[in-house]
Amino acid sequence: MSASGTASPQVAVVGAGWSGATAARLLHDAGLRVHIFERTMAVGGHSRSATVNGVLFEPEGPHIFHTSKPAVKDFAVRHGMRHSYEHKGLTQIFLDDADEHPYTLSWPPQVAELHVLPVWPAIEKELSGLPPTPCTRDFESHCVSIMGRTLYRLFIEGYTIKQWGCHPSDLSSTFAPSRLGLRTDGNRRLFRDTWEFFPLPNAQEVMESMTRPIPATFGQEIAAADLPELERAYDAVVLTVPLDTFAGRPGRLEWRGIRTVSRYIPLEDPDATVTPGYIVNHPSLRVPYTRTVESKHASGQSIPATVVTEEYPGAPARHYPVLTTDSRNERENVRLQEEIRKMTRMSVFFCGRLANYEYINQDVALDQGMSCANDVIRELRAKGRNTREGRAYER
Ligand SMILES: Cc1cc2nc3c(=O)[nH]c(=O)nc-3n(C[C@H](O)[C@H](O)[C@H](O)COP(=O)(O)OP(=O)(O)OC[C@H]3O[C@@H](n4cnc5c(N)ncnc54)[C@H](O)[C@@H]3O)c2cc1C
Repeated sequence: MSASGTASPQVAVVGAGWSGATAARLLHDAGLRVHIFERTMAVGGHSRSATVNGVLFEPEGPHIFHTSKPAVKDFAVRHGMRHSYEHKGLTQIFLDDADEHPYTLSWPPQVAELHVLPVWPAIEKELSGLPPTPCTRDFESHCVSIMGRTLYRLFIEGYTIKQWGCHPSDLSSTFAPSRLGLRTDGNRRLFRDTWEFFPLPNAQEVMESMTRPIPATFGQEIAAADLPELERAYDAVVLTVPLDTFAGRPGRLEWRGIRTVSRYIPLEDPDATVTPGYIVNHPSLRVPYTRTVESKHASGQSIPATVVTEEYPGAPARHYPVLTTDSRNERENVRLQEEIRKMTRMSVFFCGRLANYEYINQDVALDQGMSCANDVIRELRAKGRNTREGRAYER
């Protein structure tokens, strides 16, 4: 395979999750010759779900697709994302160690629901004394500044200690998810994007539709050592993979992962479930896991069984980037990007949660795939390579 001459340029896309699948499809649609390399035997990346005896469950964590970008929604819908969904978050809190039963409340907290708690007077007093602007010193100070110490202790502190294995004051406030905060509107929907879906039968079918016309090699892990070989056939490479392992230095980037334990539970009533909701947070340190996930609430399957998955933090998996107050991992990732660019004459593009070392939702991964496809076309055209006129995709 030669990359020279007037034929359309060739692009290698490494990784077939949302970001790689989207970039690959848009480059293909723009007339470039694309090849996908995927380490596992199938597309879908971290959003893949599974079934046991016909019951859908999510061994990699629950995945709700939500976006307010029309182009992202249209692209996903065109490839089969259709089942509209409205996720309502739940959390179970214990007020103190002597409590036998937890309170099941909305997540994020709805202030009106908190009135039932015996500690409401303390919460109310703290809420009335909040500073006018949130503190950004660290994650703990940030949370206390937006919800007061009592709610921080009940809803956030234990969850964060379990999830991150360190105290919230050692974490950067930039890590604070945008949906963290108090709600007063009675609307229990966790996400407030214009469109929200639970992919049925699963997310991997949407990505299979995206990648269907594109040649792919499965079961091959690509590393920096492969760049000279790729360089002989491709003009550009899109990397959606972890850069420390890619560069041959695994462990240079810290990640926090969860271990999931899934239990199959036979039921007499095909419409029954066993937990109060699709995802239930467990911030108390008395409970060893952080969440339960029962995907049957979202899939709506009528089947005499269910699967409940518990999430135990602290596993060596690349789920959550560790954003410390000194930003050491983000800086290391930028160093790795620069190093990898220097290893090859191909144009190199970094796309998705792993190569950019960030926690992003699926819609953002898809959006990054769109941007990346545009960047590839722009750069190859600037280098005088023969690409079709026009952007890959108008976003
Ligand atoms: C626990 C958890 C829950 C989540 N829940 C939600 C949710 O509810 N809603 C939401 O929108 N987002 C959610 N997300 C985020 C979502 O998982 C990501 O946005 C999405 O997976 C990003 O896609 P990606 O293509 O960037 O990466 P990935 O899906 O990780 O894809 C990367 C691909 O690259 C492959 N690969 C890796 N290394 C190599 C290599 N060297 N060579 C070849 N192939 C390689 C991998 O096998 C994989 O297929 C959640 C994330 C986590 C951790």
